[in-house]
Amino acid sequence: MCVFCKIINNEIPCYKVYEDDQVIAFLDISQVTHGHTLVVPKKHYENIFVLDEAIAGELYKAVVKVSNILKKGLNLTDLNIINNNGPVAGQTVNHYHIHLVPRYSDDGVSFFIPPKEVNHDKLANLLEQILNNQ
Ligand code: AMP
Ligand code: ZN
Repeated sequence: MCVFCKIINNEIPCYKVYEDDQVIAFLDISQVTHGHTLVVPKKHYENIFVLDEAIAGELYKAVVKVSNILKKGLNLTDLNIINNNGPVAGQTVNHYHIHLVPRYSDDGVSFFIPPKEVNHDKLANLLEQILNNQ
């Protein structure tokens, strides 16, 4: 059983921020920033590609709720929402989860996506490739 399933089954402890029928949120054991929290469906889905769409809806409702719990509890103004799928993308726990990472001006963290040169021909070809392979 995966580590998050063990938390959900009360086999190992967590610092629970929020829970409802389908979703649990708890503090990440390794706090990237103060208040770093994971929002997790109670049912085990490995990644976004197999996540049930109805569960995804419930999960994102909880993301909004937990974001506001953190905002109020920690007097936040800024927050990154991150989800890693697959090892190349940095996924280390194979139970789908969403990171809520509160941001502070001096936190030293960066999720900056650098802008690249715009090329409309490449964009058109890329879109054709994506849509033709459905
Ligand atoms: P990811 O790398 O996106 O798969 O994120 C997995 C996250 O789970 C990491 O940030 C870990 O610190 C966190 N984590 C692993 N084990 C636990 C645990 N027992 N309780 C809370 N968070 C955990
Ligand atoms: Zn699991």
